[in-house]
Amino acid sequence: MVTKLKTPTIPITEIEQSAFCQTDEKLTAKPLAEEFDAGVRWQKLPMQYMRMTPDELDQRIAAVRAKLGERVVLLGHHYQRDEIIRFADFRGDSFKLSQFAASQQNAEHIVFCGVHFMAETASILSGAHQRVILPNLTAGCSMADMAHIDDVMDCWDDLSNLFGGGDELTPITYMNSTAAIKALCGRNGGIVCTSSNAPATFDWAYEQGNRVLFLPDQHLGRNTGLKMGIGLDEMVVWNPFKVLGGNTEEQLSRAKLILWQGHCSVHTRFTVDQIEQAREKHPDVNVVVHPECTMEAVAAADMNGSTEYIIKVIEEAPAGSKWAVGTEISLVNRIAAENPDKTVFCLDPVVCPCSTMYRIHPAYLSWVLDGLDEGVTVNEIAVPDDVAEDARVALNRMLAVV
Ligand code: SF4
Repeated sequence: MVTKLKTPTIPITEIEQSAFCQTDEKLTAKPLAEEFDAGVRWQKLPMQYMRMTPDELDQRIAAVRAKLGERVVLLGHHYQRDEIIRFADFRGDSFKLSQFAASQQNAEHIVFCGVHFMAETASILSGAHQRVILPNLTAGCSMADMAHIDDVMDCWDDLSNLFGGGDELTPITYMNSTAAIKALCGRNGGIVCTSSNAPATFDWAYEQGNRVLFLPDQHLGRNTGLKMGIGLDEMVVWNPFKVLGGNTEEQLSRAKLILWQGHCSVHTRFTVDQIEQAREKHPDVNVVVHPECTMEAVAAADMNGSTEYIIKVIEEAPAGSKWAVGTEISLVNRIAAENPDKTVFCLDPVVCPCSTMYRIHPAYLSWVLDGLDEGVTVNEIAVPDDVAEDARVALNRMLAVV
């Protein structure tokens, strides 16, 4: 047995998650020097960028962006601030952006306004002649940080010993994981999934074998399993700090789905109470949540799906309809602004952006674009060739399945 008792640790990104929570709904950027007071880790950058006002940064980014032209493509995840999204050539969820990254072969540089694992994925899927940039290196993801490759390898070794390899166990990793974990999946007959295509990748995985190890988000894994008709009694949770993940050999042998004990600190804030309160206040409201929410919140909602699904379902809804939404607040505010004929609000009354996405302040975007204009690549994200090669196998399986 490889796993042993370890001291549980909480990722720093999880501890910092509530740094930007507030009850004032305005999420407009301030000069970075003021935002540094939030008490999270920020990457240092030249002082001149710290003091610039949002308007000055806006003009500076627009000017350098125009100068760089098609040499640069800028990808923006839906959870980014408005001051960033307005400069994105493409915006989307992690699945859509991974497809864009794979198709943008002409640009010399891909500036990825999102979080670290997304930039890694773009680096893996882009051409060898391209360089990927993450404007702020402290923009990680607390969920991805809950699955360390060493712990995942221990888990994999134990499960392989128990089940004897072959078609007994297929690993699926959510896009929100490190390149090393994607590579482990690629090497071991596994696949990557996103919240847009999780059911299709489950179908694929159960065609390969009897049992799935799902990393690192237990909620997306559980919600998808339930959607596919897998019972809760056929699922176990793997706690990386306990021997055999806190399970007996018998429990593991009975399981069809083994869920890594990770979660999204943003989406697990949404509760059944909030849904009930929204319905009390607006009896005709539609409730839509992301599948990274708990199974209780998903069961209480009217519908659930990826960020792309949430955007589409509200866009296509009739004028006058009301929507209570359980996903990241920057996106909910944007959907509300882009659908003025509907009432759209966040289920959580506390305004709590994803603190790592929020760390892509316009000052960082300005800094890395100025660098490119001067011939300097700041904050390049590169993945070692051997890791990239194996991770690409799992990513390409995903792109082929959906
Ligand atoms: S919203 Fe959750 S899963 Fe997405 S980047 Fe933020 S912490 Fe990670």
